[in-house]
Amino acid sequence: MKLDNINDYIIDFSLAINIGKSKLIEYGIFPIKEFGIYILVAIINEQIDKSKIEELFNKPIKCIKISKKVFEFEINYLEFKYEICNLAKQSILLSDENDINISSIFLFSDSLLEFAIFVKASDIHIETTKDSVVIRIRIDGILVQFFKLCYELYYILSSSIKLFTSLDISQKRLPQNGRFSKNILDLDYDFRVSILPTISGESIVIRILDNQKAFIGLEDIGFSDDVYAKISKNISYTQGMILITGPTGSGKTTTLYSILNRLNHNQMKIITLEDPIEYNIDGIQQVNINSDIGLDYEIVLKNILRQDPDILMIGEIRDSKTLQVAIQASLTGHLVIATLHTNDAIKTINRLLDLKAEPFLIASTLRLIVSQRLIRVLCENCKIQVEVDGLRVYKAVGCAKCNLSGYSDRTIITESLEIDEKISQMINAKTDIANILQYASYKTINNNSYQKVLDGIISLEEYYRHEI
Ligand SMILES: [Zn+2]
Repeated sequence: MKLDNINDYIIDFSLAINIGKSKLIEYGIFPIKEFGIYILVAIINEQIDKSKIEELFNKPIKCIKISKKVFEFEINYLEFKYEICNLAKQSILLSDENDINISSIFLFSDSLLEFAIFVKASDIHIETTKDSVVIRIRIDGILVQFFKLCYELYYILSSSIKLFTSLDISQKRLPQNGRFSKNILDLDYDFRVSILPTISGESIVIRILDNQKAFIGLEDIGFSDDVYAKISKNISYTQGMILITGPTGSGKTTTLYSILNRLNHNQMKIITLEDPIEYNIDGIQQVNINSDIGLDYEIVLKNILRQDPDILMIGEIRDSKTLQVAIQASLTGHLVIATLHTNDAIKTINRLLDLKAEPFLIASTLRLIVSQRLIRVLCENCKIQVEVDGLRVYKAVGCAKCNLSGYSDRTIITESLEIDEKISQMINAKTDIANILQYASYKTINNNSYQKVLDGIISLEEYYRHEI
């Protein structure tokens, strides 16, 4: 019997609640839904005595097979899921598309946000299919489906999210963006909302901005000693350009904020250009880029130098115009810190050349390139030691403490390239990056990541997943 996907079904959790966790675990069963004369039950062992289970439900059953891991996942969150699905049912019962019962849908959305924060999620994805609403939650970079609910909930949920994000409720055909704040479990959180119309309704993504991240110290990011030392040294200069690079979701913004926290004291004027601003920091002039009204990077950068800043933070260098101004600013006595989408430190040089920067300008302004990724840390509670090709490493298992993923939280892997006199000359002479790399011979992101495997912090699988 091949494995079935429990995520395909809109589960009625009251069935499982009525039987009770201990019985479900004893038999290895998870009831899904009542279909007229029978109940659909997920089982982990095909050899199960069906008549016993039918006795338990007092009804005929039909079975689908799931893995032990999926079963444990459902059992682990049973009470939460039951409660949240109940609130969803209530909302559907009390509302319709044109007359929404605000208090019931707010109860539902608040519990959903609380739940997401409880499982340490970064984003909540609310998506529609032809006949359901699917809610997936991103934890440590991985999307996990937690709920599949009736389609009727979509209109109510979409409208209520638009309501507390001050968006246009009647607008369902164009993308909308907004944000809202909420106090959850005694902590203040900001939520950034993006709504995109799709063929079956809308895709709604809520990013959870944990304000604690805005105050993280450079020393707490998890840089290796050599990278940390290079960053500390280079941000103490009064001019030049420091680039933090990596793909989307590699923690670049958190690194930028940690640097700003280090530099933020009253002898410095710091101006940031962000699209959008993620966290507010007192003492720093943060400018939110808003292309809709013509407030784009170019226009802000043109005016920014008249503001007499010491330090400039550019959220992202996206095009040659932004890069030109960044270079201009660093040439004229400002420290510029920015992010750039590149895969590793050395290729950043090529990217700058692609953006039509003159080699001599790069050579004279660039001081340091830091490249980074986020990588999942093994759960301390359940990791086990195994031997792979004679090497003692740790393997992810999964337990209740880590949402059965085997991982808990993420850490950073990095590499950095400091532009010394020789590299500066090589850039100016348009030397091939392979030669620059050979000369620089720094510890690469892979070296850093592999060391974490040897230290038992990450798994080999995670190492390979991020190998460059
Ligand atoms: Zn665990």
